[in-house]
Formats: sequence, C-alpha cells, structure tokens
Amino acid sequence: MGSERSVTPLYPMSQTTKGDEDMQIQPPESVWKNGKMIAWKDATVHALSHGLHYGTAVFEGIRCYDTQDGPAVFRLKDHMARLHTSAKAINMAIPHTVDELCSATREVIKVNALKSCYIRPISLFGVSGIGVNPIGYPVDTFIIAFPLGAYLGQDGVKNGIRVHTSSWRRTSGSSVPATAKICGNYVNSALAVMEAKQNGFDETILLNEHGMVAEGSGENIFVVRNGSIVTPPLSAGILPGITRDSVMHLAKDMGHHVLEQNMTRAELYLAEESFFTGSAAEVTPIREIDRRPVGDGRPGPITKGLQIKYSDIITGKVSKYKLWLDVVE
Ligand code: PMP
Repeated sequence: MGSERSVTPLYPMSQTTKGDEDMQIQPPESVWKNGKMIAWKDATVHALSHGLHYGTAVFEGIRCYDTQDGPAVFRLKDHMARLHTSAKAINMAIPHTVDELCSATREVIKVNALKSCYIRPISLFGVSGIGVNPIGYPVDTFIIAFPLGAYLGQDGVKNGIRVHTSSWRRTSGSSVPATAKICGNYVNSALAVMEAKQNGFDETILLNEHGMVAEGSGENIFVVRNGSIVTPPLSAGILPGITRDSVMHLAKDMGHHVLEQNMTRAELYLAEESFFTGSAAEVTPIREIDRRPVGDGRPGPITKGLQIKYSDIITGKVSKYKLWLDVVE
C-alpha cells in the first residue's frame, strides 16, 4: 500500500459558500503564554488537551486603537475580569490576576510593535488524562494580538448588513453557563453563522429557548422602536457584551431612551433601525432582517450617531470616556 489515501469525504460539503477570507490574519512574531513571550510557531496546544476535546476553555475578544496618546486598549480590565468570570463558571482558576493579564496584553502589543489590533486571550484546561472531569488539570493561558479590519466588512459598517433569523436556538443557560464566554458554547454560534452564510446572509440572529430574540453569533443586537433604543435583557441568555454596555452608556448620555426588553422575532420587523454591537463588530448597522428592509433599508440617524460617538470614544477623542482606554506605554 502506498501512502496516498482517498480524500473523498463521506458526506460532500457544500461548495457554494466561501469562507471568511477577510478574517485571515497576519501572524505576529510573539505570543504570550503562561507569563513568557514565545514565538508564534510555538504557540500550540497538545492534541490531548482537555479544552480541545471537551470545549473547556474560555476566551476574550478585545480591540486596541491607535490614539493620539499611542496604542490604547478599550476596556481592557473589564474584558480580563470577564475572562475570570467565564473561567469561574467552569471551575477553572486562571493562575494570573486580572492586572497581570492586563500588563501581559500591553507587553504583547509592545513587543509586536502593533498599533491598532485585535487581542485574543484564551485559557484552556491542558493535558492530564482522558476523563471528562477537568478538576486538577493544568490551565494554559495565551494572549495573541494581530491587526484586524472591520469584522463584518467595511461595506457593512457603512451601508449595513443583511441578516436572517437562525433555525438554531441560542444555547440555553439551563444546559451551559450561556452568559460566559466558553469556547464550547461557540459551536452554537458556528452552526448559526454557517447557516446564514450558506443562505447568502452576512450574519444571523439567534432566538433563545423561549423564542425571544437573543443575539448574533458574536454580537449583541439593538433595535430602535418609536424613537427608543431597545435591546434584549441579560436574562434572555445573552453574553453581557462590553460594547453593549458602552453603547447603552453613551446612548443615555446622548439623551436617548434606552430599554432592556424582551422582543419577539416579529417585533424585529417593525424596527425603525437596528444594529449589532461587539468588540470585533463595533457598531454595525443591520439593513435587512429575513429579507425585510429595516426602516428604509439604510442605516438610520440614531445608529449613525452612535457609530460616530463610539468611534470618537475608542480613538480617545472624548475626554469623559478616556478612562475606558488603557494606553500602552
Ligand atoms: N455575543 C456573543 C455571543 C459574542 O461572542 C460577543 C463577542 N464577544 C458579543 C455578544 C459582544 O460582546 P463584546 O461587546 O463584549 O465583544
């Protein structure tokens, strides 16, 4: 027998949908692992890692912006605090404090001479045995930073994106801690976003187990109804988004009425405006839901106003919100 093997898949995959080519990254030189800087090529995990087999890992997605004061990380401490909270939800003790993780992040940015970038911290249960119970397993933490453009595309930021309602329901909080950023939970997001792309949409909206609107595959959702800004409450089983919280703060500051309220799928169709928020997605307008135009099918004035304000805040142009920026010395 030669070494060549048949590669015909048992179940051929759809060839009609492309992957996310624009999500390809430029590898940085160094990655932070467990307190040390290591080369990109060495930033690997063992094939028998518990986190790989059973999804027992937690992560964050953070952005750093090029500001007048130098590169500055947006709400770094809040992100690292959420990493610790997510870890606690799966009985994982990350052996680095929030402050240590914040300094490590600044170091990764500095060492790789990055200005504006995306930061991906991840902690996983490593190698010990084969059992499902990870108690007592080692915990490995990596922090990886690299440049990243608009998550939902530059055209999406400007003109809005087209989304549909997923046939997958958001994983219930009665099955897993749904409000924690646990790697295993993202099979749900991956299934939903693949379905959206295969149907020609840019993103997806997941309903929760009760049929109420939850969130996108990696974003929180907002609508504008009768002039008020409405978003599902945390009890809808969503990730407590840091961008969601930021946008709620600044919307109130701008004099808008902000409500956390459950909404049905049909209520989405009545929205005057709609947008997604996320560290990667920032504020991205939604111009179509289930083939129905949102408002007149173009980003509305409230969404645009929030986009501008958010962009000013993250680039350090609003003194009141400079506290949210962690400058990399
Ligand atoms: N929901 C989900 C499922 C996510 O993965 C994300 C991205 N972290 C968000 C919402 C938005 O959260 P944040 O604003 O903190 O990035």
